[in-house]
Amino acid sequence: MEVQFTEQIEQLQLGDGATFHGEGIMAITKALLQSGVAYVGGYQGAPVSHLLDVMVQAKTYLDTLGVHVEACSNEASAAAMLGASIHYPLRGAVTWKSIVGTNVAADALSNLASPGVVGGALIVVGEDYGEGASVIQERTHAYAMKSTLALFDPRPDLANMVRMVEHAFALSEASNMPAVMELRIRACHVRGHFIAKDNRAPKLSTRALIEEPAGFDYMRLAHPPVTFRHEKLKIEQRIPAAQAYIAEHRLNEHFDGRRSDVGLVVQGGLFNALQRALQTLGLADAFGASELPLLVLNVTYPLVPAELRDFCAGKRAVMVFEEGYPEYIEKDLALALRRLDLQTPVHGKDLLPAAGEYTVEALVPALLAFAEKHLPDVDLAPARAWLAANAARRADVAKALGALPARPPGFCIGCPERPVFSALKLAQAKVGPVHVAADIGCHALATFEPFSSGHSILGYGMSLASRAGVSPMMQRRTLAIMGDGGFWHNGLLTGVQSALFSGDDAVLMIMKNGYTSATGTQDILSTPDDESKAAAVADGSLHQSLAHKNQTIEDTLKGMGLKWMRTVNTYDVDAMRRTLQEAFTSPFNGLKVIIAEGECQLERQRRIKPWIAALLKRGERVERVKYGVDEDVCTGDHACIRLSGCPTLTLKDNPDPLRVDPVATVIEGCVGCGLCGANAHAATLCPSFYRAEVIRNPKWHERLLAGLRSRMVAWVQPA
Ligand code: SF4
Ligand code: SF4
Repeated sequence: MEVQFTEQIEQLQLGDGATFHGEGIMAITKALLQSGVAYVGGYQGAPVSHLLDVMVQAKTYLDTLGVHVEACSNEASAAAMLGASIHYPLRGAVTWKSIVGTNVAADALSNLASPGVVGGALIVVGEDYGEGASVIQERTHAYAMKSTLALFDPRPDLANMVRMVEHAFALSEASNMPAVMELRIRACHVRGHFIAKDNRAPKLSTRALIEEPAGFDYMRLAHPPVTFRHEKLKIEQRIPAAQAYIAEHRLNEHFDGRRSDVGLVVQGGLFNALQRALQTLGLADAFGASELPLLVLNVTYPLVPAELRDFCAGKRAVMVFEEGYPEYIEKDLALALRRLDLQTPVHGKDLLPAAGEYTVEALVPALLAFAEKHLPDVDLAPARAWLAANAARRADVAKALGALPARPPGFCIGCPERPVFSALKLAQAKVGPVHVAADIGCHALATFEPFSSGHSILGYGMSLASRAGVSPMMQRRTLAIMGDGGFWHNGLLTGVQSALFSGDDAVLMIMKNGYTSATGTQDILSTPDDESKAAAVADGSLHQSLAHKNQTIEDTLKGMGLKWMRTVNTYDVDAMRRTLQEAFTSPFNGLKVIIAEGECQLERQRRIKPWIAALLKRGERVERVKYGVDEDVCTGDHACIRLSGCPTLTLKDNPDPLRVDPVATVIEGCVGCGLCGANAHAATLCPSFYRAEVIRNPKWHERLLAGLRSRMVAWVQPA
């Protein structure tokens, strides 16, 4: 990956008393080192990618502490890594994006939680829920309950988050329960500061090796019959131990308020939004002081019944603010109060929206409803006015702008995957529509216009497996698409192995762009090495696709016995179209794999931009390819746009006053990927596209030639 985390790595090394400034996720990363973590692993994904990315780049520093870092092949392997803490007093942390990553890790998590851990085990998950999320809206909370994992949801304040990381390890050791810390998108990116402590070198580490393996202990295996004992241990010992730890160290925060006859119970991660909502009702100030008592749950599982009792006893009503569905905390609290024979009315989802992110605007109406019932003296007019003003502003904007078109995300400019979908459109025009099993990754952007391609997405690397029930029923062959990231994450085993073993007649397209681009362009097994990247830059091939020297995917497939495989440069639309048609119609009855090769343009641009800047600074010659549209030739039918969707291929008013249709135009930002030309050729579009080579710092003979050419043009086309 080309992004450098130099500044973040410096922050990780801060010592006692220094002030750390930065984002929540980096504070968590620093807290791991302050807690004496011995090993770190994970699989990247928003919003927690930075944790692993920075740790991987900080390897040299981590080596000095004896901390091991592993970029795992998927979340299951990351969860299994925590097995080190079952026998040994090693603190370990892994990270991934939830809920999808937790689903992948579920088997290993169950098998970890059953025997329990002696070294603190912490799983930092990005709770990718709400506005901006990119996955299914489900809660990690369910996993914590079913597998008996302590679940932290810290109030998004850097010092508090750091404190919770330190306690999560200690609680895990005190209770033998692995701990999970869920971080919402906003918590990961909240900025702030805290006073750092020295990083702690772990007692056992890559520098202080374990002398002998642990003795054999059947109780440490997740295997019957001891699993029956584990189940009892979870309930009889581990949960009570965790509850005792939470109470003793006051992990959940109790903020007093002057209106002590009511109270609010809130997940720590929702604290900031609730404070802002209370402010609109005049029940809190800008600094977070609330008139209503608050119980802030930094640990949302297990709950501590005595703590709930103490908070709720004597109150006329309490309300629980719990994001997502179902309302586990609210039900737990209601049950705990019932068992304690406390009759305090409990509100929550009866007043709040059942689903969706709890933004301030979602919380205010619920608070208004609560206040109407239980706080009759509060003036609710300002909050109602605030909501009405928001609605009026939206209505005004809608009236002024009219109905705005949806703006879904799309491929980057020059993305190597866009041409594949142009080719797929053209191939389907010949062979007829095919069922497309889509997958997770940048290629899923083709589900949006202008491609609108894909029938299902069943998980990361699952496309080939997901067509297994469809292809035998379908007259025409199906197409499964996955990225190289998905191939290594899961697709190789769940899809390829199964299809080869069963002799399935299927077509698989693997996007070999060199990285797990959708998660932040992290390196994978098939990433081209630095030498090949440097060679591709040094030979001046600025607009060429980097030919991947790394053949790991191809060799793996060959080794598994694959008989039909084609490698095609993605920017060669016509070749890709022909290959797709061949795969759909070939008499070969078996798995057919097309390797679509073209380096991720985002990563490529990150690499070549500084290189070009350096060349220009030295006054050296730089050639840049640009595409353009001859506005006099463009017919205005926009077939090129429907086949590409590149953001720099757009429309402008027709300069000809006698023609009304806008013409196509290529705007600044075109990276000269060549797709415009390739599409025009493959689809036999109108001949309006031209390719230009823009030369900066030209050689003397190029200047001479350019001068002669312009004089010639001026002579045949006088002004
Ligand atoms: S990150 Fe790379 S692969 Fe993904 S859309 Fe952008 S250029 Fe394409
Ligand atoms: S050549 Fe066409 S598709 Fe490629 S970046 Fe330029 S405008 Fe976009």
